[in-house]
Amino acid sequence: MREHQGMNSATQSAMNKPLAELSLTPGGLDPELAWAQLLRRDPAATFFYAVTTTGVVCRPACRSRLPLRANVRFFTTLQQARAAGFRPCLRCRPETPPRNALEKSVHTLKAISTSPFASQSLAGSPA
Ligand SMILES: [Zn+2]
Repeated sequence: MREHQGMNSATQSAMNKPLAELSLTPGGLDPELAWAQLLRRDPAATFFYAVTTTGVVCRPACRSRLPLRANVRFFTTLQQARAAGFRPCLRCRPETPPRNALEKSVHTLKAISTSPFASQSLAGSPA
């Protein structure tokens, strides 16, 4: 009987942990990685960032002024940001499909696959 009770409390504390982590990072987004992408205005970034002081949600490639990190929240979808009370930015229009970003990432992929370094590593190192 005692063992059974002990197992129950252990299971409960194990279940509490991932729930707390989920509330910090919605959708499994890594805030460190997301912030790094936002800092370099990565056009290939697929997440959205919201600024708590303005109530606006933006794409990372938006040309608006970079906010303080303490005021930034990251979302994997625009729906999540809207549900949290943020409105889409009028400059970067996060509600429209990122056509430029897609074309740019395809171009980057092509550049990588045609680079001499890529073909070398595919063929294996020479003896
Ligand atoms: Zn914006």
